[in-house]
Amino acid sequence: MKEQLIFDLSRSGRKGYRFSPLDIPERPAGELIPSKFLRKEAASIPEIPESEVVRHFVRLSNLNYHVDKNMYPLGSCTMKYNPKINDYTCDLPGFSALHPMQPESTAQGALQMMHELAEMLSEIAGMATVSLQPAAGAHGELTGILLIKKYHAKLGRPRHKLLVVDSAHGTNPASAALGGYQTVSVSSNAAGRTNLDDLRAKLDEDVAALMLTNPNTLGLFESEILTIAKMVHDNGSLLYMDGANMNALLGLTRPGDMGFDVVHYNLHKSFSTPHGGGGPGSGPVGVSARLAEFLPVPVVEKYEENDATRYRLNSDRPDNIGRMMNFYGNFSVLVRAYTYIRMLGAEGLRRVSENAIINANYLLIRLLDHYTLPYPKPVMHEFCLSGDRQKKAHNVRTLDIAKRILDYGFHSPTVYFPLIVSEALMIEPTETESKETLDAFADALIAIAEEASSNPEKVLSAPETTPVRRLDDALASRQLNICCTL
Ligand SMILES: *Cc1c(COP(=O)(O)O)cnc(C)c1O
Repeated sequence: MKEQLIFDLSRSGRKGYRFSPLDIPERPAGELIPSKFLRKEAASIPEIPESEVVRHFVRLSNLNYHVDKNMYPLGSCTMKYNPKINDYTCDLPGFSALHPMQPESTAQGALQMMHELAEMLSEIAGMATVSLQPAAGAHGELTGILLIKKYHAKLGRPRHKLLVVDSAHGTNPASAALGGYQTVSVSSNAAGRTNLDDLRAKLDEDVAALMLTNPNTLGLFESEILTIAKMVHDNGSLLYMDGANMNALLGLTRPGDMGFDVVHYNLHKSFSTPHGGGGPGSGPVGVSARLAEFLPVPVVEKYEENDATRYRLNSDRPDNIGRMMNFYGNFSVLVRAYTYIRMLGAEGLRRVSENAIINANYLLIRLLDHYTLPYPKPVMHEFCLSGDRQKKAHNVRTLDIAKRILDYGFHSPTVYFPLIVSEALMIEPTETESKETLDAFADALIAIAEEASSNPEKVLSAPETTPVRRLDDALASRQLNICCTL
């Protein structure tokens, strides 16, 4: 059944509230609030009893898809199950009832949590220190780029270019541009890794840094990373890691040990927190020792006083890049990540990545006969297939496959990204899916590959079971075509 808007459910006089009679003289609207600020829409607030409001929103929530309902195989996004204990700790009054402006002496527990989280993240990625301020991965990228800029400026040799590999997430070149840099694209080779000849050719003395994602968005580990780090550093440039794919590395290897100078983490991906729909997120930035002095202020510091360990916020750091966020970052996401890391411990984190890798490779092997794999396996925590075969033979595009998977009760994978794969289907199962769920998902994609040849019309007209069917598909595919021809 189609769900009506709450405005359509409204019936005059069916209110869910009753005010006490006024005990002061009534004054005309416009007297207390200037009339230009009075909103006319407020006159048409729906009139609907509480019971109907609750049912309306519960029905809407049933129409929604979320990771508590089923698998969310969105490549590069690490949509993993979020343990409910993270929400429990986040709701503890000592955290949730804090005011960001209350005195430090009354917020020692919160500061301790932030300090310990920064230390744990530093340890996980092998970096000297971490700022928790940035509000998302892209915001972490911008922060990292501003740190790089400050570093070169302080050496008295500003540089103007940032190199970005062509398999990168779109936020990389966008952040580079926002940071005032010219972006230069470096190509990938046939193995899906950075093309070292192209890198060598583009690495001139105006290059501030190379931005790399490791493993990259094809799920492939950059096996020449030590060579790349040496090339970049010998050139006086810095090495930035987009750490959105940390779910593949936890406890196995560390960006700092590979030679990265800056890395951002996506707490809302690798360290669990419900995301999608715009946040909230958190994108801390880890740096090597030579960039530490530039971190945004305030920095949480630990000190000893009268034999007690205390914490304070320090803004007295002359070379800082400024604030990246009001107050201290998205605090509730920090509490969730802290809980997640403490619950799992070092051993648990390593098993997260091991299982994420095993799940991805298991799923890939199951799908191998049915879709094209454009770059060689094995993969890390995700993989990228191409729907080229289906498109050539039956004119069924990846977009159609993505629509059809909704009828099988799954969210679709990431599609048409990375840009270097045509008709891309990018799949990341994460460690939190069972073998049964992985099999059900593989069975669905295999069934769709079969439908594409036996009954293409079925796939082309999907979805048929969702509350709304195709949403202005002509517009969507025009945009996808633009995206793919760029
Ligand atoms: C998600 C993602 C980003 C951006 O992170 P946001 O938190 O969405 O801003 C950057 N790079 C990669 C590889 C990602 O997967």
